Amino acid sequence: TLELRGVNKSFGSLQVLKDINLTIGKGEFAAIVGPSGCGKSTALRMFAGLEFPSEGEALADGESITKPAPNRMLIFQEHALYPWSTVEDNVGLGLELAGIGKAERRERINAVLEKVNLSGFNKYYPSQLSGGMRQRVAIARALIMDPDVLLLDEPYGALDAMTRLTMQNELLRLWQGTGKTMLLITHDIDEALYLADKVYVMSARPGQVVRTIDLAMPRPRNRNGEEFAAHRR
Ligand code: ATP
Ligand code: MG
Repeated sequence: TLELRGVNKSFGSLQVLKDINLTIGKGEFAAIVGPSGCGKSTALRMFAGLEFPSEGEALADGESITKPAPNRMLIFQEHALYPWSTVEDNVGLGLELAGIGKAERRERINAVLEKVNLSGFNKYYPSQLSGGMRQRVAIARALIMDPDVLLLDEPYGALDAMTRLTMQNELLRLWQGTGKTMLLITHDIDEALYLADKVYVMSARPGQVVRTIDLAMPRPRNRNGEEFAAHRR
């Protein structure tokens, strides 16, 4: 469970977040939407342990977040791969830093690349990949640590509509049945409504949660008792 409790955040005299309260349950897919500059990335970075409230608390499973943890992986707004490293080196870096040996690394790299539909691209450099493929590498790099929480900061903003839809569906597939908690930042309300069970809508300057949309409510059913929009899950 991720929580922001009474969070205020200022940078100097600029108040960015005002009295934010939100709770994201284990296994939930939540999204935060809001205009540019309203503090979405700042809020997300608190869960990653990269930013801290001026007042209030950021909690993971009831404990105050004090530092980054491999259990909560952030996927950046700009996917920030190392351009001089191959796909497999980018993806395997976290394991290498964790002291995991070459053979196990190779195995886990191949498994995770298969999950994101990039089998066989081990030796490619980021510059040789499309934007969507680079984003898949960034997701693979986070997934390989087997985190309980994935924090996604506008992962699909730079992609064309068709690629974005493919990637959104892949993300749902990667999440379903895993029990992983997902928190997605986007300024695309349609994307939030499509992917998330719960959507927090923020206002601009200072960022406040002005609305919570709960989509996990029972959905309308047809006379056979089947959900409409059954394609979603
Ligand atoms: P976007 O949709 O454009 O990514 P955002 O909602 O993610 O915007 P943030 O990146 O959280 O917005 O930034 C919110 C505000 O806080 C902005 O005005 C930004 O300039 C300011 N800000 C963020 N980080 C810092 C920092 N380290 N120092 C000073 N100001 C900062
Ligand atoms: Mg941002």
